[in-house]
Amino acid sequence: MHIQVRNLDKHFGSFHAVKDVSFDIEKGHLIGLLGPSGGGKTSILRMLAGLESPDSGEIAFHGQVVNDIPPQERGIGFVFQNYALFKHMTVFDNIAFGLKVKKAPKSKIKERVMELVELTGLKGFEKRYPHQLSGGQRQRVAFARALAPEPQLLLLDEPFAAIDAKIRQELRSWLRELIERVGITSIFVTHDQDEAIEVADEIMIINQGRVEQKGTPWDIYKEPKTPFVATFIGESTMVEEASVLKGFDGAGSRGQARALIRPEYIELGHEQDFPILSATEEGIVRHLHFRGSEWLVEVEVKGRKLVTYRSLEKDTLQPGQEIRVLIHRAYLFNEEDSWIEENR
Ligand code: ATP
Repeated sequence: MHIQVRNLDKHFGSFHAVKDVSFDIEKGHLIGLLGPSGGGKTSILRMLAGLESPDSGEIAFHGQVVNDIPPQERGIGFVFQNYALFKHMTVFDNIAFGLKVKKAPKSKIKERVMELVELTGLKGFEKRYPHQLSGGQRQRVAFARALAPEPQLLLLDEPFAAIDAKIRQELRSWLRELIERVGITSIFVTHDQDEAIEVADEIMIINQGRVEQKGTPWDIYKEPKTPFVATFIGESTMVEEASVLKGFDGAGSRGQARALIRPEYIELGHEQDFPILSATEEGIVRHLHFRGSEWLVEVEVKGRKLVTYRSLEKDTLQPGQEIRVLIHRAYLFNEEDSWIEENR
């Protein structure tokens, strides 16, 4: 289902929770709403579901405005973090619930439930009760239950938040495959950037009621439009005055700019490792964190702490050691604009 949201606004009392939010979601896409707690993600989801009405703005499914259509008639499936299964019902009956409400024929119900049991890898668990399942299995039942009535839109609000890290990782790739197979338009709320990056086709970064940026995870990582997005996605260091850094001394020509530096844009080495006249800085290694496949290095340059990686094959660094630092590029931000600058 193609979704259009236009100028959505919502207050709770005097609190402005959602501010002029507009976006489109293409049919079959999985969108991640990502942002800090209290930013308005759940409120946007609840308005799409019809559980909350906007103060102003329009929501359209398939080009038809649904603002006045009640939740049960919007063709939406939900999976929420705390959307508990019916404890007294078996897996089969939990999945069948929505179809029974719709008064589907018994044979049709059985067929559809078995199809979903297969799809969600729950075969053999049909007769179990929720307390006889693991957290991950329960959440898979919740997905099957949401998908059973063949909704056109699936809303997922932190569906894995209550599940431990290892299983959550498995469920993420499982969900990605499931949604691809079913081909259903889905919206996924999370405050976990790794989860959003791994699962979503596109991410919307929501902060203080606004959409800060929308794009593929890769686009957002490589071209963040605001300092908020840049620091929220991926590792980085923000240097308040870009012009103090060698190679970026011209950054002030567009007014005072801040520089955001990603780890992969920093190269560490000795004098002889760099071409002569390279705009390297003097740095001091402050901390080394072993990351399994590489070191995470904190290096101090002009009193500022930068973060970068270093592969295991290179010679070992020591805390306190002096080192040359070359910053290849940076994202720059001033009041009005953002741009990428290369060090030359
Ligand atoms: P979280 O990740 O913590 O769920 P969120 O980004 O989903 O956060 P929302 O749940 O949409 O944010 O809440 C946005 C703001 O609106 C919060 O400050 C919240 O306290 C407020 N809010 C949400 N629902 C209501 C309500 N029914 N009455 C009053 N304030 C509300």
